Amino acid sequence: KLYNEVQDLKGNIRVYCRIRPFLPGQSQKQTSIEYVGENGDIVVANPSKQGKDSRRLFKFNKVFGPAATQEEVFLDTQPLIRSVLDGYNVCIFAYGQTGSGKTYTMSGPSVSSTDDWGVNYRALNDLFQISQSRESSIAYEVGVQMVEIYNEQSRFVFFNLHTLGIWNTTLPNGLAVPDASMHPVNSTADVLKLMNIGLMNRAVGATALNERSSRSHSVLTVHVRGVDLKTDTALRGSLHLVDLAGSERVDRSEATGDRLREAQHINKSLSALGDVIFALAQKNSHVPYRNSKLTQVLQSSLGGQAKTLMFVQLNPEVQSFSETISTLKFAERVS
Ligand code: ADP
Ligand code: MG
Repeated sequence: KLYNEVQDLKGNIRVYCRIRPFLPGQSQKQTSIEYVGENGDIVVANPSKQGKDSRRLFKFNKVFGPAATQEEVFLDTQPLIRSVLDGYNVCIFAYGQTGSGKTYTMSGPSVSSTDDWGVNYRALNDLFQISQSRESSIAYEVGVQMVEIYNEQSRFVFFNLHTLGIWNTTLPNGLAVPDASMHPVNSTADVLKLMNIGLMNRAVGATALNERSSRSHSVLTVHVRGVDLKTDTALRGSLHLVDLAGSERVDRSEATGDRLREAQHINKSLSALGDVIFALAQKNSHVPYRNSKLTQVLQSSLGGQAKTLMFVQLNPEVQSFSETISTLKFAERVS
């Protein structure tokens, strides 16, 4: 295996933490994140307590502090992405409260500058470059598909793209969603074009989109098919890139109607995801994939030979302390 260079830690699940910087205008005086170690440790301090009891240590496979660049983050993600070309199914997702940097990590703040690109564009770029430059006898095809899961319903963001057509009729291995429209792509530019069409298909204004995107899970799936022309054997791998809905707890006494229903769905699907990863980390024989749409969609890339990476996103502000702790507890359970 050429690209399977990732060392396996605790089965096939690894957890990275990323702390976003303070944003312009935010008071930098106080943070709940007291220490960020080179070795993957962080120390979080409870602002309303004093002394030793106020601090807790959490350990990750890797921690990216506020100064980490998109490129640095990608360097530690790249080997996983390359293993897709060896036929692995890989799932990378970002977990955290709204505003903690999930979209920044997965997509980046804008697509216009390549320095800003998040994991998804860099991953596609990398896959294209390798699949086109690899001197071997393997011919690769790449297809992408985007699904939005909102209130336990999945919706394809790309559809009816006459100009690009539907990729094929035979469902590739690892395609967890039936009747998904799949689009052949040959370059990162094609993907950017598709994503823009995808965003337009959502048919909501920018503010509404932002609002809603924090309450839906967005799953970008990349399917790679490699045919070895010498031996005439085919190999398939897939990459799921997931920007999860915000994990913040909604105050039950305040939320009503649609807002409450959304919150309940998010709660249910995030805990279902936690249960699945926990079962996998424990090597349990039963893995409860059926409990949510999200875990059903991701089933092929969670467990078995699949490799999973979770970005735990943290907001450094002291006001976020309780959300930070609940995010860290989620991570602690699965790592
Ligand atoms: P989420 O998707 O979790 O709701 P966003 O990715 O939208 O959060 O990030 C919230 C804000 O913080 C955005 O303005 C974003 O550009 C900024 N931000 C997040 N992470 C970083 C980072 N690592 N460096 C600089 N700005 C960041
Ligand atoms: Mg977001």
